[in-house]
Amino acid sequence: MKTLSITTLILALLFYLVDPTRACGEEVRVERSRPMMGTMVEITALGPDRDLCDRSVEQAFQEIEAVDRLMSSFKGDSQVSQLNRLAGKTWMVLDPEVLDVLEAAVLYSRLSEGAFDITVGPLLRLWGFYRDKGHLPSTQEIGQARSRVNYRDIEIDQPKGRARLKKPGMAIDLGAIAKGYAVDKAVEALKKKGIRKGLVNAGGDLYAFGRPEEKAPWLIGLQHPREREKVATVLEVEDRAVATSGNYERYFVLKGKRYTHILDPRTGWPIQGMASVTVMADSAMKADALATSVFVLGPQRGLALLNRLPGVEGIIVAEEGPGGKQLVPYFSKGLKGRVSLDF
Ligand code: ADP
Ligand code: MG
Repeated sequence: MKTLSITTLILALLFYLVDPTRACGEEVRVERSRPMMGTMVEITALGPDRDLCDRSVEQAFQEIEAVDRLMSSFKGDSQVSQLNRLAGKTWMVLDPEVLDVLEAAVLYSRLSEGAFDITVGPLLRLWGFYRDKGHLPSTQEIGQARSRVNYRDIEIDQPKGRARLKKPGMAIDLGAIAKGYAVDKAVEALKKKGIRKGLVNAGGDLYAFGRPEEKAPWLIGLQHPREREKVATVLEVEDRAVATSGNYERYFVLKGKRYTHILDPRTGWPIQGMASVTVMADSAMKADALATSVFVLGPQRGLALLNRLPGVEGIIVAEEGPGGKQLVPYFSKGLKGRVSLDF
């Protein structure tokens, strides 16, 4: 399971630990966290009065709850679970939000040449990621599951508001993109209520807007990939999303080897040799999907993808050398020489 510890520490908040709802000047700051979507979601709103902040934060949580209800693979009655049960059989009419996320997912599959693929469901099941108990599959089992993995077999019919999975046994999983989408929806809700400064963090997929203080943007600490309590670097963030995919969040160990929950759809195997990928972009959904894509692509091809997308930056930490013990950072063009990591 994804732990409740938070990938990304918000250093700025440390100054407010005494009282989470604290007036500063004429401004009120409301900060709440709740366990949701298999992680801890934190929402912060700054505004003119407590009541507005409270109501906005509540509304933002409800948006996230709604996304989870529609898109979770862990809820049998979600639209995603229903769509999976209809694989190879028939079309299903879906909420526009689900269709939009499916469409975006297919776009990221194309952009990443198949590294990102939400049809990895059969592989996730095979490796035991749905029952929290690892299983080392045989080559034959992997081959069988892989034959049902292909984003091109998702058919989306926007005019009729429906989609289908063409092959029996196919299953989609939105674990690499839905949290980012939920963060964007929560931010939209805060803004609609009139909040101009805020932060939504779903366990390392976050969006920060406005400035918490006149002179300073939001300060986002990136967790060290090996030592939970350590911060590898601090990023300044304003009106941007940051998402991190790591091999330390959900994994199992078999015979001394670590198997992470991010899989290579082409080989059917968990990705090796990557510690973490952090992506900055203009939406949390984009950052989330790209972080997973780059994690699968690896440092070279991953950097090439980040560098050709406008407004996107990223930090890749690879595990290199004997036993993968050495952490080696790679930076996209816009971050090179501007950010350093403290390992
Ligand atoms: P986290 O959940 O730690 O933020 P990610 O955003 O990288 O990490 O999402 C990982 C999840 O994405 C996995 O748990 C699984 O549900 C799904 N997934 C695994 N491999 C892929 C892949 N190649 N393409 C798309 N989704 C994937
Ligand atoms: Mg992701």
